[in-house]
Amino acid sequence: MLVDPRGRRIEYLRISITDRCNFRCIYCQSKGPFKFLPHEEILTFEEIESIVRVGVKLGVKVVRLTGGEPLLRKGIVELVARLAKIPGLEDLSLTTNGYFLSELVKPLKEAGLKRINISLDTLSEEKFSELTGGFSLKKVMEGLYLSLSEGFTAVKINSVIIRGFNDEECEELAKLSIELPVEVRFIEFMPVGKNSLWDESRVVPISEIKERVERLGKLMPAEKVGKGPAAVFRFEGAKGKVGFISPLSSHFCGSCNRLRITADGRLRPCLFSDEEINLKDYLRGKKGSLEEAFREALRIKPGIGVKASTQRPMRAIGG
Ligand code: SAM
Ligand code: SF4
Repeated sequence: MLVDPRGRRIEYLRISITDRCNFRCIYCQSKGPFKFLPHEEILTFEEIESIVRVGVKLGVKVVRLTGGEPLLRKGIVELVARLAKIPGLEDLSLTTNGYFLSELVKPLKEAGLKRINISLDTLSEEKFSELTGGFSLKKVMEGLYLSLSEGFTAVKINSVIIRGFNDEECEELAKLSIELPVEVRFIEFMPVGKNSLWDESRVVPISEIKERVERLGKLMPAEKVGKGPAAVFRFEGAKGKVGFISPLSSHFCGSCNRLRITADGRLRPCLFSDEEINLKDYLRGKKGSLEEAFREALRIKPGIGVKASTQRPMRAIGG
């Protein structure tokens, strides 16, 4: 079992499979020029599979693939099929910007993907284009509707709320949960990445987001799907749910159940800390076994209330 010195049981592995992305979301980027990892630095499918097999042997039950944009990684369907076959892995999911979903959602479902989270921060075509660097909202919405018809265990929408950009849209976004069987999750804007565009004045605390959402009607506590940190509710008669994730205003470090792996194979015990373990040293025989790497990650996993001060941009960590 993977239990850290503070008694937190690790069951969730979040793996970034590429640092590349077609979008240029304003909240995910650093100021200044983009530097992508060289291809040879990115973990191969064999390496990812070996890491997941060891993680599952040690008690990991849930794997989420992320990026960059994970659907840009060539062979993503094959990777999902390989991971889905690992005995003991109970849940395999993906976080995506949704742009390539209409082409890929069917093969991904057939390969064994169980759940999908789609990032969607605005319902205005114009703002979407401004946010992402010129991409079409319509194509993402097509991907969302197709995902809903594929019979996944859950389809969730992630909305990062930024003051002055989309805070006026909380109600509109929450309305999707009334009409569609989706969980719309509101996320506080986090300060990740050196020179990021983050600024305290742009953070909308979850308490304020919830207040805005509740203008639509009374929220009742609802059942959670998955092992994430969201507090989940629903409106009476709604097809879906609403979730709130508050990493800043009320952090959930005490119940953190996850480890992250960056696209270049760094095992990262905490989103907000740059302490990392280079798994490639363990995969390529320079250090001990992968099991030892996991144990070392537990040993250095930070405690409660880590102050965010990370160098890597979000697209390199995976969210
Ligand atoms: N490209 C995929 C996507 O956008 O869903 C996966 C990677 S993205 C880094 C993962 C998640 O991180 C997305 O839901 C995105 O909205 C969120 N994210 C990125 N930067 C963030 C920030 N500064 N604060 C909060 N969430 C952020
Ligand atoms: Fe946007 Fe995700 Fe790409 Fe970041 S990684 S720019 S959040 S689509």
